Amino acid sequence: MERTVAFLLIRVALVAGLVFYLYRDARSRDYTPLMWAFMPVIILFTPGLGGAIIAALLLFVIYILSRPKGELAACPHCKKKIHTILAFCPFCRQSVKKECLHCHDIVEWEAERCPHCGSTNLTKS
Ligand SMILES: [Zn+2]
Ligand SMILES: [Zn+2]
Repeated sequence: MERTVAFLLIRVALVAGLVFYLYRDARSRDYTPLMWAFMPVIILFTPGLGGAIIAALLLFVIYILSRPKGELAACPHCKKKIHTILAFCPFCRQSVKKECLHCHDIVEWEAERCPHCGSTNLTKS
């Protein structure tokens, strides 16, 4: 009986940990966070504790391999960690990139001039 309770607690901890991690990371990358937060629920239905651990590991590996690659950096507005390729922050919805009005390339928020053509004529928002 105690074993069953302990196993159930481990299983719930696995699910809670994965939900927390996947939702946070997927939200930072704007990668269907609600879908990923829901996926670990399948771990509750896997047979045996070994099955649950394997399912959790598999889900984690699938997520790491399939998520958009790249670094996370602080949003210039709300300071939350966001994927550097995004043009809009998934948390505060503000623009985190500027556009060069000369060559229409995307320029980093902190940049004073376009790294591609050297123009200082950048959009501000
Ligand atoms: Zn933000
Ligand atoms: Zn330019």
